Amino acid sequence: MEKLFLDKKGSIKIASKAYLIIREKSNFSVSQINKIVSIGRDPKNDFILSSKGISRRHATIYLKDKCYFIVDGDLKGNVSTNGLWVNGIKISVHQLDNYDFISFQKGVEAFFIMPEECLSTGKMLELFFKKSFLFASGKTIRSSFLNGSEDRELKSQSTLVPDPKNSMLDGLTYLPNRSNFFSRVERALLFKEQIDQQYIFAVLLIDLDRFKIINDSLGHLVGDELLVNIAERLSTCIREGDMACRLGGDEFGVLLSDLNSLDEAKLITQRIQRSLSKPLQIQSHEIYPSLSIGIASSNLGYKTVEGIVRDADTAMHYAKSNGKSKFIVFNEKIHRTATNLFQLDNDLRKVIKQDGLQIFYQPIVSLKDKNLTGFEALLRWKHSDKGFISPSVFIPIAEENGLIHQVGDWLIDAVCQQLASWNNSSNIKNSLAVNINISPKQLMDSSIVKRLLDNTRKYNLDPAKIKLEIIESILMESTEQTKKVFIQLKEAGFQLAIDDFGVGYSSLSYLNRLPIDTLKIDKSFVKKIGGDGETTSINVTHSIIALAHSIGIKVVAEGIENLYQLAWLRQQKCDYGQGYLLSKPIDANEASRLAEKGLDWTWKC
Ligand code: C2E
Ligand code: MG
Ligand code: MG
Repeated sequence: MEKLFLDKKGSIKIASKAYLIIREKSNFSVSQINKIVSIGRDPKNDFILSSKGISRRHATIYLKDKCYFIVDGDLKGNVSTNGLWVNGIKISVHQLDNYDFISFQKGVEAFFIMPEECLSTGKMLELFFKKSFLFASGKTIRSSFLNGSEDRELKSQSTLVPDPKNSMLDGLTYLPNRSNFFSRVERALLFKEQIDQQYIFAVLLIDLDRFKIINDSLGHLVGDELLVNIAERLSTCIREGDMACRLGGDEFGVLLSDLNSLDEAKLITQRIQRSLSKPLQIQSHEIYPSLSIGIASSNLGYKTVEGIVRDADTAMHYAKSNGKSKFIVFNEKIHRTATNLFQLDNDLRKVIKQDGLQIFYQPIVSLKDKNLTGFEALLRWKHSDKGFISPSVFIPIAEENGLIHQVGDWLIDAVCQQLASWNNSSNIKNSLAVNINISPKQLMDSSIVKRLLDNTRKYNLDPAKIKLEIIESILMESTEQTKKVFIQLKEAGFQLAIDDFGVGYSSLSYLNRLPIDTLKIDKSFVKKIGGDGETTSINVTHSIIALAHSIGIKVVAEGIENLYQLAWLRQQKCDYGQGYLLSKPIDANEASRLAEKGLDWTWKC
């Protein structure tokens, strides 16, 4: 490394690189800084400091995106024994600015000068000593020692550099915070890129499943305590040299450094998952934490922190949507799925804007008197390249990106208009009802009640003829807010149905939590009637019908596909039926024709 020695009279020339003036006791040296320089007692360092108390690798300065950073220790994450101060503040990572004053320890200090700076030696030394006086080896001088101008300078410095407690640690859990974590991952990337290409590390993104429900139902204090407990467990089960942080909300990040292989990362993740999922007693509540974890490993050649964290996040979301409580390593397949979803997300936005979604209607019939009682409205998306896309694919996307409200509002209006047209048709004798699927996301906002009421008034409809279908998990996961909306909907006269009942393992005892009118037995039970595994399905279906009737709730069987199923359900006194045997979902015109003629039962039973 080229060194420029200070000539007491001369001045330092303009340099294209930054430079560092180092004072060790009474020796001064000025050196230009290359892309990465290490400072410490190790003879292999670029700047060798020999004083007692200086660590082998006390600090590292590196250049990234035209900015210089200094870190305590080395880029692998090993920190110095005595710490590092910049402008009187202990730092772990710091972006260097002109005239930053670095203290390694008392009497061993440095002064940073940005490229293209031209200073006379006298001016530089004057600045150096002034800073040295202000920021003596890590201890900020009390302002009573300072005269007015220095006081002002110190105050302006302290607004530039926030309190380390706030800037480095998360206020609730005292784990390192997001920016602290990002700097460590950055250092790991730099180490791999510039020092050891074989170096393996991994980033984990950990998200607590159903945290919002815990927060909403048990209160924020319990939620906070849960986060603190999780943070404590996390910091005890990572290895020395790793870093755990709270990224925000219920999201934690872990940097697993210096791994032998990706398998090692998986083993550590398993250990973390086991430890964090153990039951917790918070106040009077027993909580079973469940976590979804995404892993991204440095093997994929990341260049940026954002890249590796983004992929860990994608893997974490993948783990969540694939059943939660698991960990997934980011790979090419997940990348393709994510890209596909991103594309679908864009296309969905377009199709909604262009009014390109359609509504199909599937008949619901009374199994007692075989009359058509109404239809379930089901969304259809005919994609220009991909053909029909199932609502089971695009509804979760719309829920995720918030479009569900726009889609839901449009659907409510269109379905109400259709029902009014059937009501006003002289060719339709039956008084029909429509079932509308409502996403739990829509129930979080009570404006849905007003939206539905506005439409019933606009089209002059009886709210009792609108049945709102909500998935079963709402029974277990309902919050105070959803409960409130449910009650408002019920008071406004709408009918409430639980969709796909039986798959979510919620017991019938949950039913009295919400004012429910109808249960829709999931088609997976109906499908097995008369087939393999019939006994369990028959028992479950039989019990659901009997118990629902005993508390005055009507039952609809979904997915009736054959005559045997139909006959068995009629025998069990199931109230209503729906399924391909009776009719597939059909467009509005066909549904109108069917409503006029009624269903043809001659070949059925
Ligand atoms: P779901 O509400 O349980 O709707 C019944 C699903 O079962 C429909 O699928 C229907 O086409 C299908 N189905 C009906 N009879 C049979 C049968 O005999 N055999 C079989 N194998 N399947 C049958 P679809 O239309 O693909 O809808 C899937 C899910 O997407 C719906 O399940 C519902 O959860 C959701 N969905 C559809 N439209 C909307 C909507 O407007 N809003 C919301 N939030 N969700 C919707
Ligand atoms: Mg439904
Ligand atoms: Mg269903």
